[in-house]
Amino acid sequence: MVVIGAGQAGLAGAYHLRRTGFEPDRDFVVLDHSPGPGGAWQFRWPSLTYGKVHGMHSLPGLELTDGDPARPSSQVVAEYFATYERTFDLRVRRPVDVRAVHEGAGGRLLVETSAGSWATRALINATGTWDRPFWPRYAGQETFRGRQLHTAQYPGPEEFAGQRVLVVGGGASGTQLLLEIAPYAAATSWVTRRPPVFREGPFDEDAGRAAVALVEERVRQGLAPSSVVSVTGLPLNDAVRQGIEDGVLDRLPMFDRITPDGVEWSDGRRVDADVILWATGFRAAIDHLAPMKLREPGGGIRVDGTRAVTDPRIHLVGYGPSASTIGANRAGRAAVRDIRRLLAQEPVAA
Ligand SMILES: Cc1cc2nc3c(=O)[nH]c(=O)nc-3n(C[C@H](O)[C@H](O)[C@H](O)COP(=O)(O)OP(=O)(O)OC[C@H]3O[C@@H](n4cnc5c(N)ncnc54)[C@H](O)[C@@H]3O)c2cc1C
Repeated sequence: MVVIGAGQAGLAGAYHLRRTGFEPDRDFVVLDHSPGPGGAWQFRWPSLTYGKVHGMHSLPGLELTDGDPARPSSQVVAEYFATYERTFDLRVRRPVDVRAVHEGAGGRLLVETSAGSWATRALINATGTWDRPFWPRYAGQETFRGRQLHTAQYPGPEEFAGQRVLVVGGGASGTQLLLEIAPYAAATSWVTRRPPVFREGPFDEDAGRAAVALVEERVRQGLAPSSVVSVTGLPLNDAVRQGIEDGVLDRLPMFDRITPDGVEWSDGRRVDADVILWATGFRAAIDHLAPMKLREPGGGIRVDGTRAVTDPRIHLVGYGPSASTIGANRAGRAAVRDIRRLLAQEPVAA
């Protein structure tokens, strides 16, 4: 068995494999192309302290209890994942880049990597989204003389001191980064495709379930999964309220073109900028699965639970409705349960 990715989803899957009697190296391998433990958390910007992370669930079987809220989440979570891997002896192999998954011999899948190939009867794909930042394309983009970067490259607010920064994107990262950058920058502007929807009141379990159900429905139809914020709205907390009052979160509609000095709208309006920060989200990092032709015309992979509808050997964990820390935990367990059932029906040993 092969698990691709050692973030929350991959480690949750590996933990349940281990718990149900699968041995690392003998029965399964976990492959990850990042340099160290932590999944995508190891790359989060330094100003995203552990205290600012809302709703990170511990991995199954070992609570993260003593995370220092003042330290970067990249460090706190990386250390916790390292301890977790050691505690459960998961033996993650890294850096191993999975390049493609093909149909192999004897009904097995062939997983081609930077460190050789593995033939496997079942696959848990847990590759997250961090490796596929989404950059929309706009007319004139290549003419812009300033700096363009994506959330995935955000270095913290200090680098933008004295600059005019335009943030594109109406998700949680867009608002968080604007609020962080505004005190340093000479000016900030905020552009979003749709008017942002702010959500009053706490985000309780019912709201969470409703949001997950909406993403689940998209995935069931074979559409590309939407981000959870697009269905939950942005939490209207004190910082956001203040940002609205101060005019930092005063949203402009999407511009029509990018110019060498900024952006402009067809009605003649323009905003000059030194930096365009694309807080435009991520897509599922699943290009290595392309040879298996799982994608539907709608752009997504249809899954039933975690199982790819067109290929029961392939499980997607941390994909669509399970793209949260709690969702990944549950999906890891569900995938292992399903794979055990699949293997029990088959005569060939793993
Ligand atoms: C800024 C930010 C803040 C967030 N905050 C929260 C939060 O507070 N609470 C919450 O529940 N969720 C949060 N999320 C969502 C969060 O990312 C997920 O909940 C969870 O951490 C994702 O885990 P994962 O295992 O699916 O993916 P990842 O953590 O991205 O792990 C995927 C792993 O797969 C590896 N990989 C990818 N492709 C390959 C390949 N081809 N070959 C080998 N290895 C590969 C990567 O190296 C990586 O280690 C946040 C997301 C972002 C962007």
